[in-house]
Amino acid sequence: TLQARNVRKSFASGRIESTVLHDLTLDVRGGELTLIAGPSGCGKSTLLAILSGLQPADGGSVRALGHELSGLSLNELEHFRLQHTGFVFQGFNLFPALSALEQVELPLTYMGLGKGTARQRAIESLEEVGLGPRMQLRPAELSGGEKQRVAIARALAKRPELLFADEPTSALDAANGQIVIDILHRIARNHGTTVLCVSHDPRLVGHADRVLAMEDGRILSDHVPSVSPVIASEAKEPSA
Ligand code: ATP
Ligand code: MG
Repeated sequence: TLQARNVRKSFASGRIESTVLHDLTLDVRGGELTLIAGPSGCGKSTLLAILSGLQPADGGSVRALGHELSGLSLNELEHFRLQHTGFVFQGFNLFPALSALEQVELPLTYMGLGKGTARQRAIESLEEVGLGPRMQLRPAELSGGEKQRVAIARALAKRPELLFADEPTSALDAANGQIVIDILHRIARNHGTTVLCVSHDPRLVGHADRVLAMEDGRILSDHVPSVSPVIASEAKEPSA
């Protein structure tokens, strides 16, 4: 579904150039929740931006859903991101003036859905993350966990094949972090969505179908957690 081969990325500041991703190679399997775990600054957000087509790599190849991203024009890339991917940003990226419902509707109308369909899908997504009763509220009136769930609903409403999440639990306490993890896992399981999540949160590990450990711009290990994530999340479905 998603393959990276020898992906390289450097940033220059003044005359100093630092390499953030060193010939990084990985395969993400479809319909799974894959977690990329690694310390702050190891290049997780940069990697996610490149895999989702938000940023170009300096070298190597990224194939997503059969497209070689570096071979797409800017228009094609924009279309690919809009139609096939959802992105949950580190820090929510919500619009202060819009209600939860409007935040979720906006990308749907931008995708070309009619107003009625967009509204209906937005409501479904907000209900799926347990925010049905709070969908008229603006970000300032929502808790951190609720804001994170709005950001997930916004990405989910597009019904993307690929869902990217950057540190979706880092701003949350244990209970809210758990709710968000369960939602992400449920999305992969029930919708067959490929979910790629980066985080240094150890709570996520047991819930992922697969964990890739990242350090200093490289993938160091690849393992399947021993606890069955299905059983773990079955045991505590979030209440709406
Ligand atoms: P965190 O867990 O703290 O979010 P991260 O693993 O997501 O960290 P990145 O945000 O990918 O790390 O950053 C990796 C390195 O790349 C950092 O040293 C950062 O300063 C550098 N970097 C990222 N984006 C840029 C940029 N646009 N310009 C220059 N340097 C950058
Ligand atoms: Mg980051």
